[in-house]
Amino acid sequence: MPTKNKIDRSKLMSVLWEIQRKKRCIGHDDISKVAQKFNMSRMELEGVVTFYHFYHKLDCGKFTIYLNDCIVSQFSGREKIQKTFEKATGVKVGHVSEDKMFGLFKTPCIGLSDQEPACLINFQPFINLTPEKVISIIAQLKNGKKPSEICDTPKSTIHYTPPKNKTVFFKPYTCFSSLKQLHKHSPEEIIDLVKESKLAGRGGAFFPTGLKWQFCRQNKSDVKYIICNADEGEPGTFKDRVLLEEHPELLIEGMIYAAYSVGASHGSIYLRAEYRYLVSKLEVILDDYRKKGYLGKGIKAKIPFDFDIYIHLGAGAYICGEETALIHSMEGKRGEPGTKEYFPVEKGFKGKPTIVNNVETLCAVPRIFEMGVDKWLQLGTEKTPGTKLLSVSGDCENKGIFEIEWGMNMQEFLKLVGAKNPKMIQFSGPSGDCLSEVDFNRNISGEDLICGGSVMIFNDQRDLMYILKSYSNFFVEESCGICVPCRTGNFLLNKKIDKLLLGHAEKKDLVDIIEWSKIIKTTSRCGLGQMSSNSLNDAIQKFPEIFERSLSENTDFNRAFNLDHAIEEYDKIINEMTSDYE
Ligand code: SF4
Repeated sequence: MPTKNKIDRSKLMSVLWEIQRKKRCIGHDDISKVAQKFNMSRMELEGVVTFYHFYHKLDCGKFTIYLNDCIVSQFSGREKIQKTFEKATGVKVGHVSEDKMFGLFKTPCIGLSDQEPACLINFQPFINLTPEKVISIIAQLKNGKKPSEICDTPKSTIHYTPPKNKTVFFKPYTCFSSLKQLHKHSPEEIIDLVKESKLAGRGGAFFPTGLKWQFCRQNKSDVKYIICNADEGEPGTFKDRVLLEEHPELLIEGMIYAAYSVGASHGSIYLRAEYRYLVSKLEVILDDYRKKGYLGKGIKAKIPFDFDIYIHLGAGAYICGEETALIHSMEGKRGEPGTKEYFPVEKGFKGKPTIVNNVETLCAVPRIFEMGVDKWLQLGTEKTPGTKLLSVSGDCENKGIFEIEWGMNMQEFLKLVGAKNPKMIQFSGPSGDCLSEVDFNRNISGEDLICGGSVMIFNDQRDLMYILKSYSNFFVEESCGICVPCRTGNFLLNKKIDKLLLGHAEKKDLVDIIEWSKIIKTTSRCGLGQMSSNSLNDAIQKFPEIFERSLSENTDFNRAFNLDHAIEEYDKIINEMTSDYE
């Protein structure tokens, strides 16, 4: 029976994480107890637990291994690595060994595309895997080592566009230095300066940041929230990981600016579980800000204010990168996107005005105040001033983060990253644009070709259809399923790609793909459904020869079963057979 002492449901995910950590699963009895504690029905809680990849209802092993399943990992030799893990642990992927020592699973992008093949073991990172390295890791674990003792430190490979002094994000930074501006300006003045800088959401939506802050400020409320969206899940992106590793102080100060501007007292970093290994480092720096009086009560500014930041750990769901889904997740619900009845700046977390900003957006704020808005505006283009961080992976010599000035020509960019015979560039991840050489003369900017952060390069040796199938698998897996067009439509598009791969498709299948994509795009609730068919449609337009090759006009695979026709055929065969005896 549910109790009357209901506890704050936003604590649900951390309670579930505690159980998962201790027991390696959230079992039947745990679900009953937690449901009672949170005054929920068992069924509702089961719905939450099963929504996330990293909560398990059965023991997931003393050592839980998650292999990255994104396309870049597959092209970096993931299959060989998987086989070696299977042999060394004695367990097939998707299963747990009989002695419950090892659980081996696949998961979408873990944010290490520049260091593939990679995996997480008990959420500790292991990079640049080779079969020999895998054998050694498993042997060490069997001999009593902890994953945290033998894991790798992911590299932060950062490249700058020349001249180097145009770097905005990665130059040295003195903690707290930009916060002096808070003594000079009122919240309204800060908002005006952010608006003047034309800073726009770097998670991919590019909504003007200053305007978002202004709307939130205008909404009167006793409590307001600032949430940093550190849930970059778009395959191929890892720029926010590098920012969190290299300059967490910029993020914290960006959140302090946001809180001061809108009048918020509570802040959260919604950190994707794949980056759990960053938690302790972030906690240390948050404590430092508290000790020095930059977080907590009475933060010094022109108008002193209270504000603190806590870390909220996600549990593995790409869709939680969508702001309303993220808010639902923080509220202890399934991470399903909401209807757009209200914007989060009106009614967000716990129904209060809330700002959700991406890591890169927030990190840009103290840099803009440090360098001055005028200098920032001198960089980049009219519509998109400043620089942009791009996560580069795939078939190129220089993988890693590139900080480029907006406006850079694509040819120049491809040269810079050392792209080898590029055939297809996936821009902004699988839900972004699929580029071919017709796009190589375009410019990377808000005026032409905008990019949220993921750039995957594929050369002319890669099987394009296989890449599209991988994207489609991802969307089928990650659709939250609440809207039928997205849930069913992506599944049906996936089956169409299967037909193309098997050589059973006809021209009609391409027409269906285009028509069904329009329906999915226009009737889905959130960006996942609205963008999931982008790459497939782009590819049909830009690489028609590949689709032509996959079509078969002579197949009878698509003919519907016709009973009369079948009987006729049968009669014909029987007649032929019996005529031999006449
Ligand atoms: Fe969920 Fe897809 Fe609908 Fe988005 S579009 S709400 S992911 S079903």
